[in-house]
Amino acid sequence: MIFRPLKYEKYAQKAIDKLQESQPKFREKFDTDNFENWFYNQSSETLRLYSEDKEIYFKYIPVGTFSLNTNSWMWSWANEDSVEPRKFRTLKIKEFGEKKNYENLTKAHFDGDKYTGWELTSIAFDIIGGIGTYRVISEHLEKYFLLTEQITKEEVEKIESELIECSVHGKIRKAFICQHLNTVQKTGFEEAFETYRGMELDEEDDFQAWCSECEKERLKTDGWNDESMEFAEIKLVCERCYFEIKEINE
Ligand SMILES: [Zn+2]
Ligand SMILES: [Zn+2]
Repeated sequence: MIFRPLKYEKYAQKAIDKLQESQPKFREKFDTDNFENWFYNQSSETLRLYSEDKEIYFKYIPVGTFSLNTNSWMWSWANEDSVEPRKFRTLKIKEFGEKKNYENLTKAHFDGDKYTGWELTSIAFDIIGGIGTYRVISEHLEKYFLLTEQITKEEVEKIESELIECSVHGKIRKAFICQHLNTVQKTGFEEAFETYRGMELDEEDDFQAWCSECEKERLKTDGWNDESMEFAEIKLVCERCYFEIKEINE
């Protein structure tokens, strides 16, 4: 017997059916159709729906965007303009696509039509899961969200209070570097742990890096102590500045 994998079209339809089954319950539960406005914040990955007298917040994973100008889709993992750390969770869809040989799930961007966004969001919902989905349209761009949980205003404020306002990159996650690291010279780049752009961090972890000279001091004192800390004079930068410095040192 020959094993025939489910054709992409069949799989996509199954995923669409699945979302169509659960999405109305989500909309009913949170009454999402009855808010007048939306606002999303990429740095905190939160979507706010609000009217004059009510509001609701969700954590989201960005699925991708559909351009009404070019009629093309782009997965969020491929979108360099999107700063959401959890966009890389959509790489799970790409992996699945590679296994099944589904081109739409592996190509960064491709042409589509008005159904493409919902089709791929249904697939994201099937593979990653969540409590529901949402789409916003601004100018000529549709942006699709996978909503993972409802959160409170206090939780949103807590996430946002931990962000830093960078004059170049805007409001974004913070990182710590020694006083010697800069965007001009190579100084060596030692890290507390291996990092990559946009990675998710545990609550107790921060991006931390220091130069080769600081590393020498640190090793001399067998780990960080007052003396080596004084030498390093750790300062705060934004996450994108951090990775720009890291790239210079590679
Ligand atoms: Zn240093
Ligand atoms: Zn910055």
